Amino acid sequence: MVNLNDKIALVTGAARGIGASIALKLASAGCDVMVSDIDLEGAQKTALQIIEMGRDAKFVKTDVSQMSDAENMIKTTLDLFGRIDILVNNAGITRDSLLMRMNESEWDTVIAINLKGTFNCIKAATRSMLKQRAGKIINIASVVGVMGNAGQANYSASKAGVIGLTKSIAKEFGPRNIQVNAIAPGYIETEMTKNLPESAKEAYFNIIPLKRAGLPDDVADVVLFLAGPLSDYVTGQVIHVDGGMVM
Ligand code: NAP
Repeated sequence: MVNLNDKIALVTGAARGIGASIALKLASAGCDVMVSDIDLEGAQKTALQIIEMGRDAKFVKTDVSQMSDAENMIKTTLDLFGRIDILVNNAGITRDSLLMRMNESEWDTVIAINLKGTFNCIKAATRSMLKQRAGKIINIASVVGVMGNAGQANYSASKAGVIGLTKSIAKEFGPRNIQVNAIAPGYIETEMTKNLPESAKEAYFNIIPLKRAGLPDDVADVVLFLAGPLSDYVTGQVIHVDGGMVM
């Protein structure tokens, strides 16, 4: 078991789905957690679950696409916990449509939350993390950022951007002993994917060698590895958690 006793973790989009699973997993390894989400009620629920597990947790309403919100999230975390050891940029959305039908707002919103949101949170945390000369940044990308996907030009571009951002920041922050990595989940069962048509789910199963959908915990397990000392010599990497879909 990875021991993260008394580390401070901040997870965005942690009201439900993969983010909630990551927050709970980090708490089970010993972290105190700042739970951040645009959905305050959901964030509070996740925080209460963590407190019931015996760790400290607070929650903060954050729209990651707004720099002022990201700055407030980081300031609140530093005020309440004193430091941030692990930053998980998980908040993300889809607005799927074929490019021919995709409107400008669908493009802009997805880029603003998935890509600029990740930039905003890293940027706001930079000063304190660099000063500490230690830290882990984990960005949740997607396999479609690597392989593309019809109907997801906006989402695929945003996640490809997250991968480029991850590698660049890994190079900038490496000398300060901060590891920056990305996870590229495949098809994971959450609210985000629950309304996919059966034909799309079937198509996924056909190309997944492990022949099942992933669960939020499958992603959280890899976050645990990237958040702890077992990955101290790993940076700038994209780890696929996709049942072998892309290799
Ligand atoms: P989810 O169930 O939809 O949860 C996403 C959470 O992020 C929700 O609580 C949502 O709140 C919140 N959120 C939305 N916009 C936000 C914003 N502007 N600021 C802060 N929080 C915001 O999604 P998920 O499946 O757990 O996905 C988590 C991450 O994994 C995303 O980055 C996603 O792209 C990535 N991913 C998922 C899959 C998959 O198959 N599920 C695959 C690859 C990558 P609201 O409900 O209020 O909008």
